[in-house]
Amino acid sequence: MMRRLSGWGRWPVVESEWLAPARREDARAALAATEGVVARGNGRAYGDAAIGARATLSARGLDRMIAFDAATGLLTLEAGVLLSDVVDAFGPRGFFPVVVPGTRLVTIGGAIAADVHGKNHHRDGGFGDHLVSLVLATASGDVLTCSREENAELFAATVGGMGLTGTILEATIRLRRVETGWIRQTTVVAQDLAAAIATLDGADATTYSVAWIDCVARGAALGRSLVFLGEHATRADLDGSAARNPFPPIPAPRLAVPIDAPGFALAHWSVAAFNEAYFRLGARKAGAPFTVAAGPYFFPLDGVGDWNRIYGRRGFVQHQCVLPTATGPAALAEMLDRIAARGDASFLAVLKKLGRANGLLSFPLEGWTLALDFPVTPGLLDFLEELDAIVVKAGGRLYLAKDARQSRATFEAGYGAAVDRFRALRRSLDPTGRVASRQSLRLGL
Ligand SMILES: Cc1cc2nc3c(=O)[nH]c(=O)nc-3n(C[C@H](O)[C@H](O)[C@H](O)COP(=O)(O)OP(=O)(O)OC[C@H]3O[C@@H](n4cnc5c(N)ncnc54)[C@H](O)[C@@H]3O)c2cc1C
Repeated sequence: MMRRLSGWGRWPVVESEWLAPARREDARAALAATEGVVARGNGRAYGDAAIGARATLSARGLDRMIAFDAATGLLTLEAGVLLSDVVDAFGPRGFFPVVVPGTRLVTIGGAIAADVHGKNHHRDGGFGDHLVSLVLATASGDVLTCSREENAELFAATVGGMGLTGTILEATIRLRRVETGWIRQTTVVAQDLAAAIATLDGADATTYSVAWIDCVARGAALGRSLVFLGEHATRADLDGSAARNPFPPIPAPRLAVPIDAPGFALAHWSVAAFNEAYFRLGARKAGAPFTVAAGPYFFPLDGVGDWNRIYGRRGFVQHQCVLPTATGPAALAEMLDRIAARGDASFLAVLKKLGRANGLLSFPLEGWTLALDFPVTPGLLDFLEELDAIVVKAGGRLYLAKDARQSRATFEAGYGAAVDRFRALRRSLDPTGRVASRQSLRLGL
């Protein structure tokens, strides 16, 4: 069966053969029998990473949980299980994934393949740091167990390897113990970029930290932000209705965007008005800590179904870079200045501090990551190349899970020597390049 596929940004849209095995053996056989194929989880990567060069293998049929050990927090499950199912099943029992991205609607396979990071990367590392082992089907039809002890090179290449080493069938991950399903949040107002960076820098001991930047602000207010700090709340932190309900369920989306929004919905004045209101509202909550349910704290956008339609029919592109600690602040200021001057800044501009990466092609570097959404408009791609040039000059790189358009040169400059090591491993594993995505063709991976 053929399907029109895109990533979460709904750009580009590509026809692909659709393979949907329900069992591991069928997934292994489909991979071994198909040319130009890549696995797909829940399609939350923004660009073309989860679209096969010719065919796309959905791993969503591999959705069984296999074993859980409450003494160690180790959970073994198939790769197509959604992180939301893990949170729903184990949250009320006092366990939570150590690393969660900004949406829980991702599969375990997708979280490993992108080595996703959360608001705690500076303290706890990425998803791969809490992965004990995985079972991988390769292009040759082999099924290999990989861990730090067994097939260690393949393990390191699969964490952050964007599905290009094969299809992950199963994984064992470590969950952390939590006393409640609430977060104790503190909001800090930062009046400019330097203040936002200083606040995040000063929050190294805090488990979760992230800044929302008003990227419409210019001049002295360039980079003004709300910084959200958080810790898992203990039972003693709760009172009132929270104390009576220590593990609040995460509700399904209450709203959904019913149609593609018209172009004017994201005009500069509406984004500017939204940002102003959001900043003022957030600033009112600044100061004393308060408790908030884990769901809205970690996954604020999951409350609105199909929110990607708000950018209209032409779709949108996310630009997420990471910049080294030393060169980052000046490069961030230059990027924010150009974005504010261009006048199509987005609602979503997020700044986080990252620590060191573990996978061969994992995105993080010690430094600053900035994520921005842009609706696809004429001239956008040229403008993003300008931002890329700032990133490359500062020694940074772009996140493959958000990428739909970076050039091979930008990618190679950003990921350096790891690219050739990854290519060499791929050649030995899959000499004719049977496993391939639209992204891997574009980047020569
Ligand atoms: C609202 C939103 C917020 C986000 N926030 C964050 C964030 O804070 N931090 C962050 O790191 N990311 C974030 N992301 C990105 C998202 O976490 C990653 O793109 C993740 O990989 C998506 O998982 P998925 O299951 O949807 O995978 P897909 O998008 O379907 O695939 C992503 C990649 O994983 C590979 N893959 C999927 N399943 C398998 C498998 N079984 N075996 C081998 N390869 C596989 C695909 O080939 C592809 O290369 C966000 C995305 C959205 C939409």
